[in-house]
Amino acid sequence: MTETTQTRNDPSRPTSDEVLLRVRDVRKYFPIRRGFFSRVVGHVKAVDHVSFDVHKGEVLGLVGESGCGKTTLARTILRLIEPTGGQVNLDGVSVFDLGAADMRKMRKRMQIIFQDPYGSLNPRLTAGSMIAEAIQIHKLARGDAVRQRVVELLDRVGLPAAAMSRYPHEFSGGQRQRIGIARALAVGPELIIADEPVSALDVSIQAQILNLLADLQRDLEMSLVFIAHDLGVVEHISDRVAVMYLGKIVEMTASSMLYEHAKHPYTKALMSAIPSLDPKRRSERIVLKGDVPSPADVPPGCPFHTRCPEVMDVCRTHVPVLKEVSAGHQVSCWLYDEKPSR
Ligand code: SF4
Repeated sequence: MTETTQTRNDPSRPTSDEVLLRVRDVRKYFPIRRGFFSRVVGHVKAVDHVSFDVHKGEVLGLVGESGCGKTTLARTILRLIEPTGGQVNLDGVSVFDLGAADMRKMRKRMQIIFQDPYGSLNPRLTAGSMIAEAIQIHKLARGDAVRQRVVELLDRVGLPAAAMSRYPHEFSGGQRQRIGIARALAVGPELIIADEPVSALDVSIQAQILNLLADLQRDLEMSLVFIAHDLGVVEHISDRVAVMYLGKIVEMTASSMLYEHAKHPYTKALMSAIPSLDPKRRSERIVLKGDVPSPADVPPGCPFHTRCPEVMDVCRTHVPVLKEVSAGHQVSCWLYDEKPSR
């Protein structure tokens, strides 16, 4: 990135103790069907017993390789796909129990920014119409006030009022992502889930969009779940970071703690891939052997044991659970837990 991203690990801006989003034991399994009668012969466990909280005004980074379940988790939380099980609460409201009408109202409070800014915009609508649509659906303004609000939102994301009458193909990738952000902001959400919002953009544009999101989150005091496959991207924007592997969270702690004292061998491998100019942060690159196993055929024991450089016998047979190993630092690994007696 050519532009410096703003750092979030600033003790002068503590986040609230109040929980906004509570995710408990969320599962999303996709059935595998075979044969003439399409019998269910197994399940792809895309998200498997995931729990975490997001506080008011907090940025939680959610990181893992492609296919680890991050996007499925985001869509399940927002009920863009239906869950297999678990609970999601937004400010005390049980999202998974809402009927269609209440869920439509809930969408005003929780918004998503998609990875592919082009694919997420309607090519037949102007930028102005797309942003206005969100305002009108939720009856947030009428008549001239809608246009005024659209102009304000475009300005907020760094686009001129003239952008209103242009179509998605007339914008660059970074500008299209700004329109996606303006559309998400149009309804005044309390929570935004940004699903890899910079990974489809040129490296030179990524820092601009990251800084824009960081500014908006701070100024509007929203909560943000920022999804990325690269720990380097979420470092500067996140208050806390959760690392996912094969549908489960394997480590979660304050951003500053994770980058200085990562514990899980998978997190350490991801960390070693971040280029750094700081000699203290530079470590030998840990190259993981093999590919990520299929979520349709998760290995027994610790799901990471087939690639872990520190694997022990117990890892092949017993599943570690996510446990607090120090204040606010949770890890799922037998290196930090009492081994089961045989
Ligand atoms: Fe590695 Fe074992 Fe820890 Fe899993 S439980 S991460 S295999 S050491």
